[in-house]
Amino acid sequence: MNIVDSIKSLRLAIPERVVIVAVSKTQPVSAILEAYHAGQRIFGENKVQELVMKHSQLPPDIEWHFIGHLQTNKVRYIAPFIDFIHSIDSLKLLTEINREALKNHRIIDCLLQFHIAREETKFGLNLTEAKTLIESEIFRQLKNIRMAGVMGMSSFSEDSELVRKEFKSLRDYFLELKSTYFSQDVFFKHLSMGMSGDYTIAIEEGSSLIRLGTIIFGNRP
Ligand SMILES: *Cc1c(COP(=O)(O)O)cnc(C)c1O
Repeated sequence: MNIVDSIKSLRLAIPERVVIVAVSKTQPVSAILEAYHAGQRIFGENKVQELVMKHSQLPPDIEWHFIGHLQTNKVRYIAPFIDFIHSIDSLKLLTEINREALKNHRIIDCLLQFHIAREETKFGLNLTEAKTLIESEIFRQLKNIRMAGVMGMSSFSEDSELVRKEFKSLRDYFLELKSTYFSQDVFFKHLSMGMSGDYTIAIEEGSSLIRLGTIIFGNRP
């Protein structure tokens, strides 16, 4: 299927409440424009340099999400325009994002990334680390970031029951943080989980934001 048809059929198949982030990493600007002309406005990238280049070449009404591991020394390059950062895994990173957002007179939505997969290579926090971060005095003083929810990646596995279990645990973390710290905060509402291979399970388990690359754009070049 081509990009336009993929987006249209996904939009029909997926509940309206679920936001689709089109993951355009490694895809050319021309492919992003095709998706844009099919009505897609939210795109996700995982490399700072690539994102900055694409941002400068594409329409200004695109909402950009950063979904990869982010080094603190690169935050300043994306702070002027980034809308969502899915990969918060330390207070240090969050503090730097806040600092750069302030400089740019912006508020940046952030998601806490949890480690839910079996693989050790995937970044992310556990529940204790997340709570320590949220309870810190430094966190309380950050006014230019907005905690918007949590994100996680399941194991790279054919075992759908394992994947489901991991998504369930991420949802539990989300619900616990929501009820403990953010029950009055309307912005803390996102559960970013699900990729091309597992988004149907993720939606069944309560995902509100799915990150789809291959299923929209085809295999990455
Ligand atoms: C690449 C990537 C995706 C999209 O992966 P697909 O399997 O192509 O849908 C989603 N989330 C993250 C964090 C990624 O790095």
